Amino acid sequence: MKRRKFVQAATGGAVAAAVLGKAAGNTKDLYDYRFPLRDLPLRTLSGSDVTVPVQVIGELRDELQGALLVPGEIGYAKARRVWNGAINRRPGLILQCESAADVVKAVNFAREGNLLTAVRGGGHSFHGNSVCDGGLMIDLKRMDSVRMAPDAGVVQVGPGAVFSQVYREVLAWKRIALGGSVGHVGAAGLTLGGGIGRLARKHGLACDNVRSFDLVTADGKLQKVSEGENRGLYWALRGGCGNFGVVTNFELRTHPMAPTILFGAVVYPWGQARDVLNFYADFTAQAPEELSAYLFCMFSPDGEPTVVVNLCYSSGRLADGEKAMAPLRSFGRPLSDSVTAEHWLVSHARYDAMVPHGNLYYQADCFAAEFSDEIINALLDAYPAAPSPQNFFTIEHVGGALSRVPRDATAFAHRDTQYVVEATTQTRDWVVHEENKRWADASQAAVRPHASGITYQNFAAQEGPAALAFEENYARLAQVKAKHDPANLFRMNANIEPGAA
Ligand SMILES: Cc1cc2nc3c(=O)[nH]c(=O)nc-3n(C[C@H](O)[C@H](O)[C@H](O)COP(=O)(O)OP(=O)(O)OC[C@H]3O[C@@H](n4cnc5c(N)ncnc54)[C@H](O)[C@@H]3O)c2cc1C
Repeated sequence: MKRRKFVQAATGGAVAAAVLGKAAGNTKDLYDYRFPLRDLPLRTLSGSDVTVPVQVIGELRDELQGALLVPGEIGYAKARRVWNGAINRRPGLILQCESAADVVKAVNFAREGNLLTAVRGGGHSFHGNSVCDGGLMIDLKRMDSVRMAPDAGVVQVGPGAVFSQVYREVLAWKRIALGGSVGHVGAAGLTLGGGIGRLARKHGLACDNVRSFDLVTADGKLQKVSEGENRGLYWALRGGCGNFGVVTNFELRTHPMAPTILFGAVVYPWGQARDVLNFYADFTAQAPEELSAYLFCMFSPDGEPTVVVNLCYSSGRLADGEKAMAPLRSFGRPLSDSVTAEHWLVSHARYDAMVPHGNLYYQADCFAAEFSDEIINALLDAYPAAPSPQNFFTIEHVGGALSRVPRDATAFAHRDTQYVVEATTQTRDWVVHEENKRWADASQAAVRPHASGITYQNFAAQEGPAALAFEENYARLAQVKAKHDPANLFRMNANIEPGAA
């Protein structure tokens, strides 16, 4: 591997010449057939800027199978955008990788330059962890191949794939992989941080169903990570987020499932809200593991607050699903009941439409072991005052298989969780966005004393107290981090600081 030389920008912007591998020369002829490159200022991990000579940038562009984008270039503006429109960062350089070899080059470039580095999978981090200001963005969007190996019952998933692609592929074989509720969320980020979905009660988290990872660590090595190889990393990658390198392939276990499921929503007027929330607490405590029931507080199209219980029965016979749902569907006086047999992809598409790309989003959440009276009171008090009618509360009922895995078996410690309580806000108005943030934080502040108080690492901000998100597994994670990423190159995540080895 040739050594690159990165040069500190001198005061006044003068740039010292430094060259990667070959003598400095007139590179204009070499590169002017494409976007004219220039010396590039890039942000380092320490926050200072380094100037990377045009030759270095040009050579990297030539080495890549994918694309190299600098500010101003066609494609750059689109590539820097992530799902949350509230995130508006401008990386100094974007590398759109096509292959694991490209990722190795990108990681070597980042490490040698000590560059602030963001890794983008599906781009759905609420806090924008996959895009940085001034530094390097390793964009994996192009690596989105999804390939089922039916005989082995596993699906190979590229790090740029989103869940709608994964579901489409595996359902063709009447099988399902463990993912989330929204089809446009990235398989990579979701799986690395845990991955809570409709089948978590039956089959566990997404990360519980990873057979192996291909991982590029900070030293630029491509490694296989599985039960039998690199076991420390295998433990850490299942819930430890993007702290340990760039995953270039996920091998996910799948489970038999017919594509037609029983799915729909029972909608209640706000006047029945307290009764419905109380009933939901009892109903979910008894529910079979095949049944997933999420409760939403959301405004109707007429602007009235409502309670929506969303039911999904996706394993076994649908007649059993009807039976399992019956007590909830016959409770109270609902405004509507849309539960019906439909294709898994159709049901997921409904969720996709609820959270389109580009709105200004904010999110606050915590785990809870029970859906107590105190939490119910806090939610009922807070919801009607939502500043934006697109804001909603979600209560996800989990437990089941997720909770049968020991807390220290993977990096995901929150195994006693029965409910995830979330406030999600969205608007297109920046003033309302600020009000939304205050509202979401205040509603969570009222819930937290009665819950775990711990944020799911997949929703955590980079600067947040990651130690909390990983609970007692943090110390061991910090050791794995020290071994594989001692300089904390991969820090744009629920960050684990390298600890004592
Ligand atoms: C609309 C919406 C719905 C959601 N629904 C669910 C849900 O049902 N269940 C659930 O558990 N979570 C859910 N989440 C949370 C989701 O799991 C996280 O936001 C997750 O980080 C998104 O992954 P991504 O790849 O799309 O995001 P990105 O923003 O691309 O990445 C998120 C983090 O993962 C890192 N990362 C991404 N790819 C790689 C890689 N290949 N190697 C190493 N690090 C990588 C990034 O650096 C970043 O730190 C939802 C989020 C949104 C916005």
